[in-house]
Amino acid sequence: MTSFVDGRTRSADVTTPGLQRQTGVSRKIDPKHIRGFTLIELLVVVAIISLLVSMLLPSLGKARESAKAMTCAMNQRQLAVAATTYASDHDDWMNPIEDYRFPDGVEVETTFRVILWKYVARMPRIFDCPSERRAVYSDGLSAADAAYGSLTRNVGTDWDHLYGVLHPYERWNASGIGIAGVHWIRNSDPDWAQRAKALAFGRLRSSGYREGLSKYTDIMEPAKLIWFGDGGSGTSTLWGSDNWWIKYSRRDYGQGDPGFNRLEQDDYGCRRHNDKANYAFADGHVTKLGANEIPCEEGACWWSIRPDVHPASTAAPTP
Ligand SMILES: [Zn+2]
Repeated sequence: MTSFVDGRTRSADVTTPGLQRQTGVSRKIDPKHIRGFTLIELLVVVAIISLLVSMLLPSLGKARESAKAMTCAMNQRQLAVAATTYASDHDDWMNPIEDYRFPDGVEVETTFRVILWKYVARMPRIFDCPSERRAVYSDGLSAADAAYGSLTRNVGTDWDHLYGVLHPYERWNASGIGIAGVHWIRNSDPDWAQRAKALAFGRLRSSGYREGLSKYTDIMEPAKLIWFGDGGSGTSTLWGSDNWWIKYSRRDYGQGDPGFNRLEQDDYGCRRHNDKANYAFADGHVTKLGANEIPCEEGACWWSIRPDVHPASTAAPTP
């Protein structure tokens, strides 16, 4: 006798009056048709449901991630608009990538975030990619606070926000979104005179840095110049703490050379969105690209204001 989960047994003997009327014969109904579920069947159902849930969860995760990537893209679009508006407010000159300011006569080194602050309606979240989890945050509390040690000892009490607001430690905070400053060709480089100006966002000569700024009209192909991208370089060989810009850090004296690839310098920001990253271009469009899809070679460089920034004569020697 088989036991069922509802306590009945298979010995139940059931007839249906309707059938009897139609056929005139009394027929036993197979008890299999009216019984409850066996334990095995319930377990199978539970297994199927958990299988469905496990199939659904990753796609929910993917949906959440693609919503974050979309917010990141919208923020980058806002930053491109902010930089363009800054330029039109400043006789076409682009904002500096960083600068010195002197509030109350005290020298403070700042990032582009302070300079573009009013152009992003003072919304610190514009500088964030919501998928960034290692460092950052624009509300002033960084996952890496401990690493910054005493530099941020007054976080949350002395400053409401660490981004955008001018204060001595603003530039020590990473960003979810970085500003592009890859081909930083210094005029202390021996072959400076042979190299073309490459950077869209330079630094103010008056700030004590020697690299000059660019004008928006200097940009030869705005649709092929990256302005902003998923940041968090996390590369430590050169200016390791400056994680708010996308930079060339493989070699100190090779920043004008072709072949820059964020993957090669182990820059985790370039893989943030499904192995790709968002990039805002100087014409305002934002697109998702893998590091290998960004040209930096003779005749084409999306990190430079001119596509011919890498003439054959300055090609890097093959290692
Ligand atoms: Zn390049």
